[in-house]
Amino acid sequence: MMAARNVHVRVGGKSILTDVSVSVRPGEVSTLLGPNGAGKSTLLRCLSGVVRPDRGDVVLDGRPLADYSLTGLARRRAVLSQSNPVNFPFTAYEIVMMGRNPYFSRHCGANDRRIVDHALTRVDAYSLRERVFQELSGGEQQRVQVARVLAQIWETEQPYLFMDEPTVALDLKHQHQTLQLVRMLAEEKEWAVIIVIHDLHLARRYGDNAVFMKHGRVYNHGAVFKILNPENVAEVFEIPRRLATV
Ligand code: ADP
Ligand code: MG
Repeated sequence: MMAARNVHVRVGGKSILTDVSVSVRPGEVSTLLGPNGAGKSTLLRCLSGVVRPDRGDVVLDGRPLADYSLTGLARRRAVLSQSNPVNFPFTAYEIVMMGRNPYFSRHCGANDRRIVDHALTRVDAYSLRERVFQELSGGEQQRVQVARVLAQIWETEQPYLFMDEPTVALDLKHQHQTLQLVRMLAEEKEWAVIIVIHDLHLARRYGDNAVFMKHGRVYNHGAVFKILNPENVAEVFEIPRRLATV
């Protein structure tokens, strides 16, 4: 299990996260919901160990994240950020192989190549593997990045997959395909999946749990079917009830 306990993050004198406590478990898809600027990405970065909280802590299987080595952490969890700029003409294949970096020192092996091909296939991007990443469409790039994080933890037991707005650039088919895939990985391979997402219909369809965030705090959390209701949505997003369909 991974848990944030009473986490506070301040940047430049401003509180970005205030007393946030959440936990995520293998086998579950957790969704992080809330308005722009609510602190969702910051919480994701705290949970994944990219940002260290100023107060409070994040523990993975009872040990503080700070106790894990960089490589140890990279083999245990993968992070798909909101944007993933690439400034060199790598091919899609090379980008996905970067996910295997924590497993080899100089040269990748046959197993790494097999995993990369498999990950590309699972996101419907195998045919793009020799293409230059920068020349792909936004949605194609996103699928390749999803393949990279899948490849990173493909053989890990009970890994943690963090995804920040993974479906934004994707067409409808690939939105469902991507979320179906991680849902299946949660159910069948005990992955813990944590997704920041704005599409409440997708959150409801594919999520087990939801954490509503607002102004850097957890507003509400629980099972998706319980808390993803018009009352909460209207409150959190500050919209009229009649627009708060979920
Ligand atoms: P969300 O992902 O929910 O849209 P973020 O976690 O990205 O929100 O940001 C929460 C708030 O913290 C925003 O107001 C943002 O401007 C601010 N913020 C985040 N990171 C930084 C930073 N490095 N420096 C200054 N402000 C930041
Ligand atoms: Mg964000």
